[in-house]
Amino acid sequence: MSRRPILMIPGPVELPPAVQSAGAEPPVSHMDERFVTSFGDALRLMRQVWGAPSGQPFVVSGSGTLAMEMAAANLVEPEDRVLVTSSGVFGERFAQIFERHGARVEVVRAPLGEAVDPEAVRSALDRGRFKAMTITHVDTSTAVRTDPSPLAALAKERGVLTILDGVCSVGGEALHQAEWEIDVALTASQKALAAPPGLALVVASPDAMETWRRRKRPVRSYYADWGNWLPIMEGYEGGRPSYFGTPPVTLVRALAAALSLAAEEGMVQRVARHQRLGKAFRKGLGALGVVGVPASDGCAASTLSCAHVPDGVAVARLVAETATAGALIAGGLHPEIRSRSFRVGHMGAVDATMLLATVDALEQGLARCGHGFERGVGHAAAREVLES
Ligand code: PMP
Repeated sequence: MSRRPILMIPGPVELPPAVQSAGAEPPVSHMDERFVTSFGDALRLMRQVWGAPSGQPFVVSGSGTLAMEMAAANLVEPEDRVLVTSSGVFGERFAQIFERHGARVEVVRAPLGEAVDPEAVRSALDRGRFKAMTITHVDTSTAVRTDPSPLAALAKERGVLTILDGVCSVGGEALHQAEWEIDVALTASQKALAAPPGLALVVASPDAMETWRRRKRPVRSYYADWGNWLPIMEGYEGGRPSYFGTPPVTLVRALAAALSLAAEEGMVQRVARHQRLGKAFRKGLGALGVVGVPASDGCAASTLSCAHVPDGVAVARLVAETATAGALIAGGLHPEIRSRSFRVGHMGAVDATMLLATVDALEQGLARCGHGFERGVGHAAAREVLES
C-alpha cells in the first residue's frame, strides 16, 4: 500500500479537512482582526464544549502536560495537601507534578484495568484535609474511564477543589464541568477535539479563580501563571488583541475550526458517536479473540481501546504489520503491560469507515503475526454495532 496509514494512535489524530486548511493558512499577525475573532470564538466555544458557562478558558502554547502543570502551579502552595486518584500512568504524572510544586500528595490507586473506586476516595478524603483532588477522566495507558461526577461530588461536599485531566476525553466523552462542579477541566488540542498538537487548554471555575486570587505566595512558574494569561484571554474575548507571549496564531485558528465542528455536531451527538465507535471496536476485538485491558464495558473509554496482545504475538511486529495494512496504532504504555498490550485511538473525527478500515488492518496485522481466527469476524462484529 503506497498511501500513508490512517493515524489511529491516541493522539495526534487525523484532522477534518476544515481544521487542516485552517492550519495550513499563512500565519497572520496576532493583532490582526481575523485572528482576534478566531481567538474569541475559540474561547467562547470552549465554554460550550466543556459545559462551563461561567468558566474561564485559557489557551496556551504547550501540550497537555503544561495544562496539568498550570492547574498545579496556580492552585497549590507548598505544604498544601492534594489527593491524586490514579487509574494509570497519567495519574502518576499528576502526582509528580504536584510534588514538584511543593504539595503533599496522597494517591488512591485503582487496580490495573479498573476505574477509581468512589468508596476508596471517600475514605481518603475523610482521613485528610485536602485542598485539591485530581481525577484522570480517561487514562490513556489503560483505556479506563473513571466517572468524574460522583468523585467530584465527594470532593465538593468537603470543600476540596476538583481538577480533571480530560486530555483523552474532552470532545469525546460526556463532560458537564459546571453541573458536575469540577473546578479545573483541562485537555490538549491533539486528541478528541481533533486539532493539531501544540495547545494546552484549561477551563477554570469561579471557585478555582478565587482560590488563585487568594494565594498567599506568587505562582512559582512565570510561564504558567494565570496572572500573565488572564488579561490576554479577557482581551481577545473582548475583541482586543493583547500580548504576553506570542500566540500560536496558526494553531489557535485550527482550534477555532475544530471547536466549531464540535459545536455544529452537538456534544450529545458527538459523545454518542464516540460511544458507538468504542463499542464497535471492542466488539471487533472480542470477535478476534483479543482481550481488552478495561475490566468491564462500563469502565471502557469511548475514545481509545487498550488490549492485551494474543499469546505469541509481539507488539512491535503487530504495530508494524497493522501499519503496512493501512492503520497506525500504538504499543503499550502502562509499565505493567507495556510489552504485552497495544492501543488504538478512535476519537476526534473518526467515522464508521475509518473504524472499519482500522479493524481490517488489525485483522491483517494479527493474521501476519500468526494469530488464528476466522478472517472477517472482527469486521462483521464491529459493523453490526455501527449499523445498529
Ligand atoms: N493526560 C492524559 C490522560 C494523556 O493521555 C496525556 C497524553 N497522552 C497527557 C495527560 C499528557 O499530554 P501531552 O502528551 O499532550 O503532554
